[in-house]
Order: sequence, then C-alpha cells, then structure tokens
Amino acid sequence: MIKGLTALAAGSIAAAALTTQKAYAWKSSTHEHIVKVGLSLLENDGYIEASDFYRNYTDIILSCTKKPDRKGDIDKGKGWHYYCVTTVNGDRLEKSPSGYLKSGKNIMSPSQYARTARTIFEDNYQSALTFCAMGEKERAMEFVARCVHMLADICCTPHTTNLTLTSVKNSKHKRYEYYSSEIFSDYAAQYAPDEMYRLLAEDELFGNIINEAAELSSAKYDIVVGVKTNEELTDTVATALIYAQQLVSAFLLRFYNDAQQGIVFVENGKRYHIRNAETGEYLALAKARQNNSYFCLTSADKKPSNLFTANINSDGSYSFASQNAKILLSAMPYCPSDKKAVKPSFRIGRTPNGIRLTTSDSRFMYALTAGEQGRPASSKPYNPDALSAHWIFEAE
Ligand SMILES: [Zn+2]
Repeated sequence: MIKGLTALAAGSIAAAALTTQKAYAWKSSTHEHIVKVGLSLLENDGYIEASDFYRNYTDIILSCTKKPDRKGDIDKGKGWHYYCVTTVNGDRLEKSPSGYLKSGKNIMSPSQYARTARTIFEDNYQSALTFCAMGEKERAMEFVARCVHMLADICCTPHTTNLTLTSVKNSKHKRYEYYSSEIFSDYAAQYAPDEMYRLLAEDELFGNIINEAAELSSAKYDIVVGVKTNEELTDTVATALIYAQQLVSAFLLRFYNDAQQGIVFVENGKRYHIRNAETGEYLALAKARQNNSYFCLTSADKKPSNLFTANINSDGSYSFASQNAKILLSAMPYCPSDKKAVKPSFRIGRTPNGIRLTTSDSRFMYALTAGEQGRPASSKPYNPDALSAHWIFEAE
C-alpha cells in the first residue's frame, strides 16, 4: 500500500459539478486527459527539465496514447489490456512466483501471462529506450505514450478484476467507462506525491508499482459491481483518475531520467550473443535438411556465427539478423528466399528472470523458449517463472 496516497489523491480532487458532455470511454479522451494532466504535474512539481523534454511532443503523446485501443493495433486493440488481481466474481487470483498476474479471460481466449497490460508496458518501455538512444525522439514518444496507456488501464478497476467486455459482468465495465468519460474532465491532480516519484525512480523493472496500482484499483471491485446509480461511482472513478495522473507523471519523470542517462538494453545495430537463462546455451540458426529454410536452436558454442545484429522496426518489434547470411532469427522455420514471407520479429521485455522475447508469429503472445538439449527453440505460452523462456543479451 502506498501510505497516505489515497487520502492525498482524494484531497486533491477538485469539487466540480458533473458535466453531461458525451465523450468516449476511458480508452480515448479519458486517456488523453490523464496524460495531459500527468505532463502538467511535472512542471507543477518542479521537474522543469523533464517537462521541457516532453514539451514539443505533446501532440504525438496525446494521439499515441489512444493507439493501443484501435482494432488491429500491435498492442492488441480494444478490450485486451487487462492485468487481473481477481476473477470476474471478485475472488483473488494468485500471482506467479515472480510476481506476474494474468490477462483477462475472454470468450475466445483464456487468461494468460502474455500479453497483459504489464507485459505490453514492459515491451514498449524497451522500444522507447532503444529509439531514444538512436536519437529518434519522436518515435520514442509513441512508445512512451503506449506505456502511459497501459499504466492508466491498470488504474481502472474493470481492467484488474476480469470484467472483460465478453464477461457476464461486461455491463459493469461499460458503466464504469462511460461514466468516467462523462466526468473525467472535472478531475485533475494538482501535484503528485514525492513518494510516488521516489517509487517510480527506485522500482527498476516497474513490477512493484504496477502490482501496487493493480491492488488499489481491484480493491474497488465491490463498489464497481455493486452500486445502483452512477453517482455512487463518483469517488471511485475520481480517485482512480487522480491516481493514474500522478502515476503517469512519476513515470514520465522516470523515463526522462533513464533517457538522460542513455540507458538502453538492446541497441539498434549492435551485435549480441543471446544466452538462455536456464541452459546457458546460445541462440543459433540451423538449415533444415529438406528445403532452404532455417530454424533456431541453442548451442553451447559462443562463436561469431551465433552473433545477431539487433534492428528495431517501426512497430517497436526487433529483428535479429545472423552475422553472415543476414538470415533472420525466427521461432518458425524461415525461408529467406521466400519474398512473400513476413519478416519475423520479437518484442522485448525485461523481467526479473531475464529478457522475454515474444514472437511475431504468435502476435507476441508466446515467448521464445529453449528446447531440451539439441532441440529447436520454439514459441510457447509465456511462463514468467520458467527460466527457459528468458534470455540474457551479451553485447559483442
Ligand atoms: Zn486499453
């Protein structure tokens, strides 16, 4: 629990009449409002250099914070950014030993560890750092905005309590979001607590603060499913909005500081040996016997032919080209002469167990996982606790 934060948040809620304006749900104009206030708090709280860092990029941040809800977006689109502390009935779900929660359960898809609002956040954070290190600040801002979107969603009770839009309680989700969209503009935090800035600065992988935010929003489950009138939701929604704005502000300061220090974990154009966290073996490519395709496996040898050049793509995914033949690393057999073949790529997320590489062929839902000795590496449902699903990047 972030001590005193709820009280602080409640204290900074401006008393204002409710508006009757029609707006979109939490996922568009509400998202814009949250980041707009988050940016303003940097200045209010005296972080002037950080505020200046974002000043010329406000438009791109505002527009890109809406992108993850669009149909077909790389971050999965509307209704998918869940990170669930409870079931749809409010029963608590266990965290995995390394602290991860699962996504929401939808009609066509069970809950799983990837992609959740948290893992999508982690992936976008790496993309933002890589673009920033390349000097592509405008592009980096798109991924900062995507991170902001995920943080805001985690502050929203339906997103941490499995109230998915295909669940039996979808009407509670919709009520929360539509009511939020009616009142969001009345609520703007005046400041973010120092403690919030400190937590974001110290939480290297963001797991503690994200889990804390999920705990806070999920604690309002009974109110969100139980109220009879919209007005009874006002305090809950207002507190969530204020908290999200403060969280976003502290996040923006953290990204600014990381960017200033030139922090980057996978650099564009740099060559890496990629070692499995469990077996200690290195990713390598092998040619299939029957055709011209290549598949990936792990090898005990750390040799030049096992070096891969990292290249970030405009969608934030990374491709890895082998040193000699420019053959791309792929979880599926990849035939470089097939002109129609989709370029295989990966999203990269830093976790307590190493780097997660989710695969484009699974729409980044599955992670590249080492096989038994001598067996190909393959794309499998992500297990955040399995070391075999994590990799260590060793720069050349
Ligand atoms: Zn969303």
